[in-house]
Amino acid sequence: MSKEERPYHCPDCGFCRVGGAENFRHCHDCGMCIDKSLFREHNCKVGKYMSNCPVCQEDLFSSRSASHEMPCGHAIHWHCFRDLAAHDSRCPVCKKTAETHERMLPTWNAMAMGIALQPVPPDLAKAVTIVCNDCEKSEENRAWHFLGVQCRHCQSFNTVVERIAMVGPQAHEFLMVADPHPLHLEAQQQQAQQQQQQTNQRRYRRI
Ligand SMILES: [Zn+2]
Ligand SMILES: [Zn+2]
Ligand SMILES: [Zn+2]
Ligand SMILES: [Zn+2]
Ligand SMILES: [Zn+2]
Repeated sequence: MSKEERPYHCPDCGFCRVGGAENFRHCHDCGMCIDKSLFREHNCKVGKYMSNCPVCQEDLFSSRSASHEMPCGHAIHWHCFRDLAAHDSRCPVCKKTAETHERMLPTWNAMAMGIALQPVPPDLAKAVTIVCNDCEKSEENRAWHFLGVQCRHCQSFNTVVERIAMVGPQAHEFLMVADPHPLHLEAQQQQAQQQQQQTNQRRYRRI
């Protein structure tokens, strides 16, 4: 049995939990042992843990296993959270990102990079309305991408397409202005610079 899985007795909970005593601290308001690393920021709510784990449905308070609070405020077993994180980074209850945005940022930046390197061919272009699961804001006229659409408000890729407004080459043309792909944006800027240089040259010639 690893150190992490060794049971410890919490006198305030009144029974033994698994997870290593050094990793947890009992909160008297929540009436529950909380992850030490999250203790300072956790949202205290009486009765928060009077619920079932959304993964295995076991009652969280009476469970011997340690609980974890996700940024959305929903509670889950620590071991169920780790299993979940291996294949989905969203809370099973509310679909918000189950990790902090700071921890997700490298992943999201990598996705944005992937999008920057792979423009969607005009035939597959779609202008869509997205809703962000994290900040709940919606945005119209965004360029769909098979890797996902990044929320402009909170940087999250945890967004869903709510409506498809336009498809194909027509959408491609439209998005060149509404939500240009980084490569198109670069091309547009170069074009604008060239035009500016040409007008400057013309001006000089006139002088
Ligand atoms: Zn406790
Ligand atoms: Zn608390
Ligand atoms: Zn569970
Ligand atoms: Zn949640
Ligand atoms: Zn957002």
